[in-house]
Amino acid sequence: MEKITNEFIEHANTAITNANKVVILTHKNPDGDALGSGLAMWHFFKSLQKEVTFLVPNQLPTNLFWMPGMAEILVYEENKEKGKLTIASSDLLVMVDFNHHSRLSEAGNHVMNHKAPKILIDHHPNPEPIADLIYSRVSSSSTAEMVFEFIQKTRGEEYISRAIADCLFVGIMTDTGSFSYNSSEPHTYEVVGKLLSKGVNKDELTDKVYNNFSEHRLRLMGYAVNQRMVVLPEFQTAYIYLTKKDLEDYKHEPGDTEGFVNYPLSIRNIVFTAIFIEKDNYTKCSFRSKGNFPANLVSMNHFNGGGHKNAAGGESKMSIQESMEKFESILPLYKHLLIQ
Ligand code: 5GP
Ligand code: MN
Repeated sequence: MEKITNEFIEHANTAITNANKVVILTHKNPDGDALGSGLAMWHFFKSLQKEVTFLVPNQLPTNLFWMPGMAEILVYEENKEKGKLTIASSDLLVMVDFNHHSRLSEAGNHVMNHKAPKILIDHHPNPEPIADLIYSRVSSSSTAEMVFEFIQKTRGEEYISRAIADCLFVGIMTDTGSFSYNSSEPHTYEVVGKLLSKGVNKDELTDKVYNNFSEHRLRLMGYAVNQRMVVLPEFQTAYIYLTKKDLEDYKHEPGDTEGFVNYPLSIRNIVFTAIFIEKDNYTKCSFRSKGNFPANLVSMNHFNGGGHKNAAGGESKMSIQESMEKFESILPLYKHLLIQ
């Protein structure tokens, strides 16, 4: 559903009224939009006096620890029994910022098997029918922008507290690269305007999000660009790779490599970028593109992933070396789309 309809609002309102134990869910390796949208929902249901838990599949990025409500998040990987019990005893599941149950990792099966009503709010293409009520708008800057509409249209704008406004602003800002992409619709700025009038301090939040890393992270960034970047001008493509040892050497913290994949896009004529990060049993891949090149197609076709046209991700069971080789080997298939 590209537009939030009266029917959706009516059903959502009934679901909210009937719920006592609510679980909010977002995708693994959560980013600013996933956390901002989920935390805003968590604050919203708390203000309605519901018993509410925000359940996240795995580790939280350290630079966002300060976000209001972060300390209350239940991390499934750290406490699986509690996670399962919380899902099983819930009477409403609210899912934000993902389009496929596999994005919840192991928690996904428990969520799918639980019979409580489910609401999904998301801006990724082709959502799987995993909820009774789905609000999907692919053109939206972020899920956070849609969560604003959800709260505004179900209960009213007065429910957007300062904490909710801060969380939603972080979601919109991070998913648009500080309003540099996916942010050409006037509606986004209407929502941002309302968030600012709720008291959001834009400069302070920008500082807290982007200037809140360790010294090691900045040095890792320099190393990645200097030593671990491969540029392939004949495909207008560049990629970065980081081994487990690289991450250990630079005392990596969760969230440290967020955004690295974007840097090679600053090179003139580069339209497609990737990053490969070595994990224990797999290789994490991220893809970014400019203009019409479908990064999500490459991710979907070759790296078990998906995402948006210009920002996609996936996981490869191959080693980091094999993943990079595969990446280079498939580029000729896309040459007609890369060289425009
Ligand atoms: P990132 O590269 O920052 O992890 O993710 C970029 C985009 O791709 C996000 O919109 C994210 O939801 C999506 N994405 C990342 N990893 C995966 C994955 O493993 N599977 C799918 N389907 N989408 C992913
Ligand atoms: Mn998002």
